[in-house]
Parts: sequence; structure tokens; C-alpha cells
Amino acid sequence: MQPEPSVPANGIILPRLAPPTPDTTPCMPTATPRSSTYVGRFAPSPTGPLHFGSLVTAVGSYLDARRAGGRWLLRIDDLDRARNVARATEGILEILEKFGFEWDGVVTRQSDSLPRYAESLERLRAMRHVFPCSCSRREMADSALARDGARLYPGSCRDRPGRIQPAYAWRARVAGTIEFTDLIQGRQHEDLESEVGDFVVQRADGQFAYQLAVVVDDHDAGVTHVIRGADLLCSTGRQIYLQGLLGFETPAYAHLPVVVNEAGEKLSKQTHAAAIDLANPARTLGNALRFLGHPSPAELTGAPVAHAWQWAIANWNLARVPRALQAAG
Ligand SMILES: [Zn+2]
Repeated sequence: MQPEPSVPANGIILPRLAPPTPDTTPCMPTATPRSSTYVGRFAPSPTGPLHFGSLVTAVGSYLDARRAGGRWLLRIDDLDRARNVARATEGILEILEKFGFEWDGVVTRQSDSLPRYAESLERLRAMRHVFPCSCSRREMADSALARDGARLYPGSCRDRPGRIQPAYAWRARVAGTIEFTDLIQGRQHEDLESEVGDFVVQRADGQFAYQLAVVVDDHDAGVTHVIRGADLLCSTGRQIYLQGLLGFETPAYAHLPVVVNEAGEKLSKQTHAAAIDLANPARTLGNALRFLGHPSPAELTGAPVAHAWQWAIANWNLARVPRALQAAG
């Protein structure tokens, strides 16, 4: 499946992935020239050990960057302090190293970028794209459900700037629709008012919302391609909207199917996903490649992990990734 041509949506011109050039020359990750303008990234949260679902996302984003001769950045999304687990970051890096991932540049952390988030919020405030909201969860309990399952904001504080309590969040005022073409999932359409609602960019406790942080981080790092799990597909509209408000370019998006267990639940700490078996990284990598529609040839069975990478980089093609939001791992 070829990506559909991008069309301007909401005045935003969506970038397109350059078609892969035919190249059958195997190249080692270390030998890949970083000549293209492609910048990808993997951004795990340090909430526990890496499980198979996160590994699949890492593999997909890594291969897409390396296939394009691009850079692959590693960022630790540690904004939600309450969920962070001590030494989880070290554990994630150890596993990635064991699997032979090679990231470009230093590992960055969202907790180091708080001044940048504050600055961006200040710009949104100056342009009146955000408003203070002191609605309690109880006040919103009767409102409709948004696409991501959260309560759709009823707009109570939207035009009542005087109603400020000691604790208040900042919400982005939404309007219009967002359209974009996901490189795997195809054409996407989101009506911001009816499906998303005015969304929080800074919580009442001062924590910046994931949506704002990600948009600022991706922009600051020059990320051109966001390859991540389809559980974040419903966040993309909000992120493209914020990019538009802040005058940032919108990267290309590709959402990989999410690995689910037999009960249909996303693998996570909450669903007690098993940590990755490090005894045989080549076999686990083979499983991740198969999940992503790239089963490795039989002659690679038992081969070292570097050979699997060599084959996978030469053969990676987003069009072969299953167009599904989730699949059993
Ligand atoms: Zn409110």
C-alpha cells in the first residue's frame, strides 16, 4: 500500500515519507550513513522493564529510521513522576543494548525540558489559545465520552476567565477538524470539538500534559517521523493541533499495531506483561519482526542478532506492517 498523497488540513501541510529506494545491499547499523534528513525516535516511559510490546515499537521505529539512512533518537518520557520506577531507565537502556540497538546522540529526558514546556505554554497563553479551568472531576462526570474514553470537556470555563480557583489546569481551546494520513493506518479524521474537546496542557498540580511535552520534544529534536504504537493514534490529532498553534512542522506518523495478550489487553505493567527474555535476543527479535509482518528467512534461525538486523534493515517496508490497531503477540 502506498501512502496517500498529503493534503493540507487546517492549513497544515503534512509531510510525506520519501518512497524507499530499491537497495538490496545489506548494511550494518553502524555502517549506515546518516545522510538523509530523516529523524526518528523511541520514547519509552520508565515505568518498569521493557516488555515485548515496547520492544516491537522500538524495532519498528529503529528499522524505519535506519532503512531511510536517518537518525534514531532515544528519549525517556519521565514526565509522570508518580508512575516512574527507580532504575527503570537503566534497565531499558541495558535491554536495548543487549538487542544491539544503536541510538544517535545522548539519551534525553523529558524532566530536563520543563523550562521549554513552560515557555511553550506561555506562548499559547499569550495567544489566548489556552484558558484556565478549575472544573472538578465530579463537575465533568455527566459529560459525554471523548474518543480516548476520557470525559469530553463541557466547556464550563471556556468563556469565564474570572472563575479561577486556587488550583486550576490550562486547557487548549479546540476548533475544527484534523486530517492526516497515517503511513500504516491510512487516512485519519478527527473532529476536535465532538471527539476530543478542550484538552489539558498543564494539570492543576503543575505537571505538563503528555500532549504538550511530546509536541515540544519532537520539534526541538527535529523529529521528522513518529513511528509508535496505535494506542497513541487518538493523541495524534491533539498533537497536530498544538503543532499548528505553536507554528511547528508536523512530522509524518505511522502507528504500529499494539501487542495484546489473550484477554485483548495491551501489554503493560498493569496487565502483568512478562519482562523480555534476554536469554536469546535473536529469537525475541525474530518474534518482533514476525509481528511486524517481516518474518525472517529460515537461514537466519540461530544466527547472531547482528545478522537479523542486517536482514531487517535491508528488507524493512512499512507497507508490510499489518494495518491493524492491535494483534496478539
Ligand atoms: Zn473548567
